[in-house]
Amino acid sequence: MLVRIETSPEDLRGMAVAQGILTMRGGMTSHAAVVARGMGKCCVSGAGEIRVDYKEKTVEMGGKVYKEGDWISLNGSTGEVYNGQVPTTEPELGGDFGAIMNLASKYTKTLVRTNADSPRDAKQARHFGAQGIGLCRTEHMFFEGDRIKAVREMILASDEEGRRVALAKLLPMQRGDFEGIFEAMDGYGVTIRLLDPPLHEFVPHQTATQKVMAEEMGITLEEVKAKVDSLEEFNPMLGHRGCRLGITYPEITEMQTRAIIEAALAVKARGIDVHPEIMIPLVGSLKEIQNQADVINITAAKVFEETGQSVPYKVGTMIEVPRAALVANQIAEVADFFSFGTNDLTQMTFGFSRDDAPKFLKFYKEHGIIKTDPFEVLDQEGVGQLVRMGVEKGRATKPELKVGICGEHGGEPSSVKFCAKLGMNYVSCSPYRVPIARVAAAQAAIEE
Ligand code: PEP
Ligand code: MG
Repeated sequence: MLVRIETSPEDLRGMAVAQGILTMRGGMTSHAAVVARGMGKCCVSGAGEIRVDYKEKTVEMGGKVYKEGDWISLNGSTGEVYNGQVPTTEPELGGDFGAIMNLASKYTKTLVRTNADSPRDAKQARHFGAQGIGLCRTEHMFFEGDRIKAVREMILASDEEGRRVALAKLLPMQRGDFEGIFEAMDGYGVTIRLLDPPLHEFVPHQTATQKVMAEEMGITLEEVKAKVDSLEEFNPMLGHRGCRLGITYPEITEMQTRAIIEAALAVKARGIDVHPEIMIPLVGSLKEIQNQADVINITAAKVFEETGQSVPYKVGTMIEVPRAALVANQIAEVADFFSFGTNDLTQMTFGFSRDDAPKFLKFYKEHGIIKTDPFEVLDQEGVGQLVRMGVEKGRATKPELKVGICGEHGGEPSSVKFCAKLGMNYVSCSPYRVPIARVAAAQAAIEE
């Protein structure tokens, strides 16, 4: 069990080897929850009453202090933490499961795609019946092995030239991953989202790691510290992330587009039926999507010219900033598809921080202010209005606009039904939620 105050990308390797994850801060859409869900791991995030002491390597809960090595058990569905080792059994995906899945396929009108960031997760999801990838978060691909080093080099570089040198190191790694994902999804659409998180998430925050970084890059510790400090933001969730990164550093978008297109051409040459869809995050205006679509199209055209080959691709956007839903008719002039990022859309519509809200949402729920956590169950009354408006305005401009959802709600039954009834083409959720989404989508079709 990995027990943390909260997790950050620096915990990724620990999460990969842990059987379960318990955090003091966070909620349904915090880093720990999203990553654990993708890995198919049990996670309890935002257990506000526990007290984690990193120095002593202890956690205090239920009046007892647990040391490293003590047994605890988790129930990720209910959020309960048990003292000691509770016996568990592996679920069996037997005949009844298959029969229900077949029934779901017979009735559904909405495709179920998956949120997957690695060839392994893509294969797992396909095994559960996913028909394509609705969201590949490329930032999650940057944390494995030596990649983080090249990413840090890119961020710490003092100019564009330095950034390009580091990006060139990342290109083959990204291309390799994309090839694996395209192969796993042979015949289905794969939506790859350009880099989204705030840059400070990637840089080392501990002096020891900063020292190693400085030595490797041949710069001083002070220079590393100064850069890390300069990246600090008061509100990182509303800061320099999403397309704001790609607009200010177009070379990132260029590298990622090149990796996607080159990977698509490589697998196509091996006989794979590949359908790449490049997705721009956190768009709120026509100018933003236009800026990034231009970079993507120019880069793709360059690759086609260099190789003498081509492959059809789509360019679309997340709809996750409320303004994007309000001006969806304009954004659809450029976008081939919309994917509703209801994690951010919920955060920005309610003004509830994804990471901090669980602290008071529990009180809200207990005192009847809210019925359900809006990060878990889509708030159809409020956020749902923006979703409906986005679909309608987008399709008013472009009737053939492909529309889906890739926020965590894409695997929650009542939210899946809402999206299906709005006429979305697909919902997308983490691999282990694909079966339940398939059932909900089929039920929505039957209810209609
Ligand atoms: C979202 O905001 O709903 C989304 C899918 O993007 P992320 O969770 O990566 O911000
Ligand atoms: Mg988002």
